[in-house]
Amino acid sequence: MPKSAEIILKPGRDKSVHHRHPWLFSGAIERVDGSPEPGDIVRVRAANGEFLAHAYYNSRSQIALRLLSWDEFDTIDAPWWTRMIERAIARRIPLSNLTGTNSYRLIYSEADGLPGLIVDRYADYLVCQFLTAGIERIRTHIVDVLWERLRPEAMIDLSDNDVRKLEGLAASGGVIRGTEPVGQVVIHENGFRYAVDLGHGQKTGYYLDQRLNRSHVAGLASGRRVLDCFCYSGGFTIPILASSPVSVTCIDSSEPALEILRANVAMLTEDRPELSAGEIEFANANVFEELRKFRDQDRRFDMIVLDPPKLAASQSQVERAKRAYKDLNLLALKLLSHGGILATFSCSGAISRQDLQGVVAWAATDAKRRVQVVDHLGQGEDHPVLASFPESEYLKGLICRVE
Ligand code: SAH
Repeated sequence: MPKSAEIILKPGRDKSVHHRHPWLFSGAIERVDGSPEPGDIVRVRAANGEFLAHAYYNSRSQIALRLLSWDEFDTIDAPWWTRMIERAIARRIPLSNLTGTNSYRLIYSEADGLPGLIVDRYADYLVCQFLTAGIERIRTHIVDVLWERLRPEAMIDLSDNDVRKLEGLAASGGVIRGTEPVGQVVIHENGFRYAVDLGHGQKTGYYLDQRLNRSHVAGLASGRRVLDCFCYSGGFTIPILASSPVSVTCIDSSEPALEILRANVAMLTEDRPELSAGEIEFANANVFEELRKFRDQDRRFDMIVLDPPKLAASQSQVERAKRAYKDLNLLALKLLSHGGILATFSCSGAISRQDLQGVVAWAATDAKRRVQVVDHLGQGEDHPVLASFPESEYLKGLICRVE
């Protein structure tokens, strides 16, 4: 076997590797010994020659190295990848044993030691994202292992092609193996049924990362007039409807999402005919505009969920995004009754937990309301945060009591 290429870092640039951060940027590289192709496995060495890690390399990406193992005696071969996939699956065994939930993230990239690979399980389907040259290289093996271990109905490629572009990869998508689902797939989460459009939905069809938060928020909704902003297909709306609210108002700018939400409400009433789910109102509108309209109409709610899309895609957008988050939270505070609950989220990795709390404090000052944070929420355990890789944390939520 040919000797793998070696990457030698600049002096002092080995610190993050010792701290087990899995990325190295191209600027940290002093020298490349050999001529590795994008996606090749390489050895990473410190300036003094000390072995640091095994990685895959891509000269076309700003993140030139994604580290795979810090053990010099490891060999990054097919059995190594198999072991890593099996470990990720094993971590989800408690989830797979839950009754009422059959959909969750099975592999979460760096946090599971498999940079560039995301696999979500939606009932009997696997939705995969192959995001880097290193993962693209081993893709067939990954598909074989998952297919054999899990025997899904089909595996679907729903790679984020903007991310692939940064790696110099062509767009990729479609059914990889098995039979494409006819129409929507019905998944179970926390005992509720949801229709998911695996081919055309947003992200990977459904926002699995909010699973625990949905139960949590719904547990506070009884007897309240609830406003679910950025409701998508009703991840929050459905369990809230099952918790005896007085009413639920749902806003989203996507009509196809609201159509799925209507179908999900129909399934809920079918599953629980005894339920008196309160009034439900759908608004196909821009949340920022709709909340202003509600304010001018003097409407009041006792609970508001704010789950906007990612408003800061990168560090450079943080200040602008903070202003947008602040506007949103301010508008919500103005609509909340005394003793109302605000469940406010940010899924922007660049916005920290502290930033989110700062935004809420800023909005509270402007709204002249007393706001108490009573709970901190995050992404579910199937989206683990790797301690040495803070970038793996992106979803933050606060439950606030508003007076
Ligand atoms: N809360 C949802 C997920 C929200 S994802 C759940 O639990 O499943 C963000 C949603 O915001 C998407 O459905 C998108 O269509 C919607 N959206 C984005 N910008 C919007 C805007 N300005 N006004 C209303 N909806 C918007």
